[in-house]
Amino acid sequence: MDELSALRDAAERALAYAETVDDRRVFPDPAAIEELNALAGPLPDGPSDPATTLELLGVVGGAATVATTGPNYYGFVTGATHPAALGAAILAASWDQNAALPIMSPVAAAVYDVSRDWLIDLLGLSPQTEIAYVTGATVANATCLAAARDALLADAGWDAPTQGLFDAPAIQVVTGDQAHSTVRKSLGFVGLGSERIVSVPSDDQGRLRADLLPDLDPADGPILLCAQAGEVNTGAFDPFDRLADWTERRGGWLHVDGAFGLWALADPGRADLVRGLTRADSLATDGHKWLNVTYDCGIAFVQRPGALRRTFASVAGYLPPATGFEAMHHTPQSSQRARQVEVWAVLRTLGRSGVADLVRQSCDAARTLAERLADLDDFAVLNEVVLNQVLVRYRNGAATERLLAAVHDDGRIWCGPTQWQGETAMRISVSSWKTTVDDARRAADVIVELADSLD
Ligand SMILES: *Cc1c(COP(=O)(O)O)cnc(C)c1O
Repeated sequence: MDELSALRDAAERALAYAETVDDRRVFPDPAAIEELNALAGPLPDGPSDPATTLELLGVVGGAATVATTGPNYYGFVTGATHPAALGAAILAASWDQNAALPIMSPVAAAVYDVSRDWLIDLLGLSPQTEIAYVTGATVANATCLAAARDALLADAGWDAPTQGLFDAPAIQVVTGDQAHSTVRKSLGFVGLGSERIVSVPSDDQGRLRADLLPDLDPADGPILLCAQAGEVNTGAFDPFDRLADWTERRGGWLHVDGAFGLWALADPGRADLVRGLTRADSLATDGHKWLNVTYDCGIAFVQRPGALRRTFASVAGYLPPATGFEAMHHTPQSSQRARQVEVWAVLRTLGRSGVADLVRQSCDAARTLAERLADLDDFAVLNEVVLNQVLVRYRNGAATERLLAAVHDDGRIWCGPTQWQGETAMRISVSSWKTTVDDARRAADVIVELADSLD
């Protein structure tokens, strides 16, 4: 086996992929998906040359990807990969560092400290904010909610990490009725219950109606309010100042799911949208969506010092005394990859204004696409385009479904369906550094051309 030639070959394939991805079908055609059978078969009886394995993966696997790293993918707020992130990911993968403890990887520890300071600065969070790198916003939400749970119960004289939740004071959990499904999932698996919540109605953009918050009494149990920055369909932001006032008056904890929307904090032009957002006690976001780092990367921000450690410290005789930030005592994981490396690389490359430009470019592209379609008779834009999300209906729900099927067949762009106010709509998200206003214009032209072809 020649280790280096196998690696060189894989690197060549990665380069060839990057060279061609912008111009290919965004979703693979059925033949390419069928070919994936070549990856199956019985477990090999014995070893073979890694180069052969990598060739098979590169040829067959690489032809059946969804081209999210090109400019034409508008699905799921997926985000692309900035070259600084991809390059850093390649380096970091080759180093194979365990970021659990500084003693296990000085470079991971140093990059963690720098990336933490940069993120706090960029987003305007309090200097003592603690951050945890996890797998994505779902786990970032769960990480924050677990820390919130234990902090609220500690204030009530109950030590949840050692005593558990049975017989603990009952936390009163409040969410908007448009809270992301993963917030409810997270509430479920941190023991607070996905349905044991007070659900507050939202307005027609999915913003939590602060005027309808219940008048909860903290004497009945500690209060946890979950809000969101960036509703998954509309991109709308909750009214954070009013939510923070309501929570503070009751000595509660305000958590915000900002899986993609949190990055609006980096754009000075969006100050109105984010007003009050940094008053939250905890915030969850994704690096792998709008910051355009590779999967998987979520970030939990907790602005109450000590809370992450209370929940996630783990004790064992062989663990050395503290020598800096110890990720394994602040996250659900123990061993973990150094996700901060890609975050550091993107922030180091783009700088403050570059991140703001990334946000602005996506939002400008979304607005352009929305304006093009809104001008046409058969199209309706269903949301206020305040960020990077556009909801479009063509005539009615059924016609919109036919149009989406045509878009998927065509393959030049991809966006998905959603249900909005009882009917199907196209959900268009812009979250790639590659997608420009011109790309958005072309995407609108493709949609219009395909709609015309349906008649
Ligand atoms: C994507 C998303 C999540 C979940 O993020 P993952 O990275 O997929 O775990 C949570 N909330 C919102 C608003 C999202 O858009």
